[in-house]
Amino acid sequence: MQHSSHSFDAVVIGGGIFGCYAALYLARKGMRVALLEKEARLFQKASLVNQARLHSGYHYPRSLATAALSDEHKERFTREHRAFVHFSFEKYYAIDRFGSFTDAAQFERFCSKLGIRCDRVAEHPLFNFDRLEALYRTEEYSFDPLLLREYYSAQVYAHDHIEVFCQAQLREVAVQGKCWQIAFSQQEKEYTLESPLVVNATYAASSAVNALFGCAELQLTHEISEIAFINSKAFSNKGLTVMDGPFGSIMPYGKSGLLSLSSVAYTHHKISYQNTPHFDCMIPEDPACTPSAPGICTTCERRPHSNAYKMLQQMQQYFSDEVRFDYWFSYFTIKSKLKANYIDDGRPTEISRLRETPGFFCLFAGKINSIYEIEKML
Ligand SMILES: Cc1cc2nc3c(=O)[nH]c(=O)nc-3n(C[C@H](O)[C@H](O)[C@H](O)COP(=O)(O)OP(=O)(O)OC[C@H]3O[C@@H](n4cnc5c(N)ncnc54)[C@H](O)[C@@H]3O)c2cc1C
Repeated sequence: MQHSSHSFDAVVIGGGIFGCYAALYLARKGMRVALLEKEARLFQKASLVNQARLHSGYHYPRSLATAALSDEHKERFTREHRAFVHFSFEKYYAIDRFGSFTDAAQFERFCSKLGIRCDRVAEHPLFNFDRLEALYRTEEYSFDPLLLREYYSAQVYAHDHIEVFCQAQLREVAVQGKCWQIAFSQQEKEYTLESPLVVNATYAASSAVNALFGCAELQLTHEISEIAFINSKAFSNKGLTVMDGPFGSIMPYGKSGLLSLSSVAYTHHKISYQNTPHFDCMIPEDPACTPSAPGICTTCERRPHSNAYKMLQQMQQYFSDEVRFDYWFSYFTIKSKLKANYIDDGRPTEISRLRETPGFFCLFAGKINSIYEIEKML
């Protein structure tokens, strides 16, 4: 087997949007960066399989901190990613009459505190007001994960300070003086990289990679999650999110023309309470998917059966009879959350420096548009 050694100013592990953004940010400062990704291509997990909601805050009436952070970065993210954002669709938020953690008065107070648009709609032919306590026309956009993938992949591959290593299997880590020595394999090749700085941007694998570098694990839970894709003649280019509890959401998946469908009750198929994801579908015969380096769920033959029809049945109740949806296909991935946010449903992005020399940062991302938090820390 071939073996080669290289030295870099920084090694970023994880090729989702956070790893790509971190690599670009460091490279633009003049640093030579290695970007290590476990899979054959970038952006195959949470950065691709998500609801594509460019959060404006509406979604977090129980976490003013997350709501405020969404708004803090929304404007810049939108400005810098205009070509990949779908602006022109009608977005509605609604409150279920039964079992919601919020009500119309509280939701209106919350939106007014955040200064975000929320216009009450008294009547609308597409919705079923027997189930909805209140309906609001809001302003929320959708980013396009497929276009973001093309954009960020092109950027990192084109940058002459960044070397991308896909299919990288981390093997061993050691400290020598002020540097990390990181051994990994890539198909038939073995590499050792030397670097004074490592950035862990592996999301579901954050705790495992922290542990490999001798740093504290994050306290996480993990869920195998499904995003279903649907369309509808009557409800095209529109979105509805029902708040706040075990409800669901339908909204444009960026500019793809499809609507993403998810539901708090049915999107999450399996849950793992350990810091690294442990699911019964991970089997020893499949080294491509382990608790320390999970695989791609969408293409896995052991992925859960789709809950799309249950989600559709649940969401259908909020619409009048003239609205019908067709189901196309689903994506699956692991969604990871900080245990600390179990109660308030917040999705903060946490970036921590876990070691001074050699340096080690862990980026744990709550939302796509919080990539700019990287600049505050790195
Ligand atoms: C179902 C779901 C819905 C969501 N909805 C929204 C939404 O509407 N709006 C929003 O803003 N956010 C949403 N999010 C959150 C958002 O998608 C994530 O916060 C964000 O994509 C995380 O980006 P990332 O780059 O950290 O992770 P990822 O995109 O998962 O990238 C991590 C990368 O690390 C790689 N990796 C893992 N282990 C290793 C290893 N050992 N060596 C090398 N590479 C490794 C993985 O293969 C992967 O490519 C959602 C997330 C999910 C799962």
